[in-house]
Amino acid sequence: MYDLLILGSGPAGLGAAIYGIRAGMELAVIDRSPVSGGQVLTTYEVDNYLGFPKISGGDIADKFHAHAQQFGVSFIIAEVSGVTLEAERKVVHTDKGDYEARTLILATGATHAMLGVEGEQRLAGMGVSYCATCDGAFFRKRTVAVVGGGDVAVEDAIFLAGICQKVYLIHRRDTLRAAASLQDRLFSQENVELIWNSEVKEISGEDMVERITVYNKERNEESTLENNGIFIAVGINPNTERFRGLVEMDESGYILADESCVTSAAGVFAAGDIRKKPMRQIITAVADGANAVNSARKLL
Ligand code: NDP
Repeated sequence: MYDLLILGSGPAGLGAAIYGIRAGMELAVIDRSPVSGGQVLTTYEVDNYLGFPKISGGDIADKFHAHAQQFGVSFIIAEVSGVTLEAERKVVHTDKGDYEARTLILATGATHAMLGVEGEQRLAGMGVSYCATCDGAFFRKRTVAVVGGGDVAVEDAIFLAGICQKVYLIHRRDTLRAAASLQDRLFSQENVELIWNSEVKEISGEDMVERITVYNKERNEESTLENNGIFIAVGINPNTERFRGLVEMDESGYILADESCVTSAAGVFAAGDIRKKPMRQIITAVADGANAVNSARKLL
């Protein structure tokens, strides 16, 4: 039986692994993907992680993984289907069998939200994308739209501006939620056009995205934008479905835990984007990993 099993190998999970190894714990990290990093892998550029003024998401994820490997962290590549809690024993069920530990850190992160409009599902992968860094290159010198007003939408629009002929950024309000420094960079892109106070109503095209219908709430007016692709960046949903009933969550599925990462279930800790908290950044995810291990260590 392990002292600690960490579910998820994003910044929170790997941060926890390093602190756990240093605390002398017998531990393993379980992730369905052999490539660590979580959402960081789909980030074009990171410029706010201490010590790395400018680094690609893929490169910083590689560094996190290499750091954990150097410290002797074991990785189990398996899909977690559920968890059973007993007083002294937590059993993690996976497609590769069951694993047991005295404590658990849940660090399975979050995935992109969908817009839920007509055409979105039908044209997914045919011009509808949720990852600009993964799919942006397919739209070289073409016209695309980005939807959202957060860090991800603005980062995506900046990244795509360097590849595409024209980028529309469609946001439902008249102010962006993204960091001021990102906004400054966005506003200096000549080929980005902001479409404020607007919602996407429909994505259409036969086999590929050809146009989107946009509704301007202020003018109460619908219009059509001809374009080749749409990048949807309207937030994230926590990957906590399989932990329902195990620990307390809010109405959106974020696990209730303060900075100590202690959840409502004894011996189970929540770290990173799955925890209800005000800031979801790489640096706060890594910090959660350290805090969760500190709480687990006290319990052990
Ligand atoms: P956010 O929740 O920050 O932003 C989502 C955006 O989408 C908001 O502007 C929101 O509008 C808009 N939106 C939500 N639902 C809809 C809808 N149905 N239709 C239209 N628009 C919608 O999500 P992000 O994905 O941008 O970022 C997720 C988290 O990751 C954030 O905490 C962010 O700070 C973090 N992040 C951290 C980075 C780093 O550490 N370097 C890099 C990138 C992201 P409204 O503003 O009106 O609510």
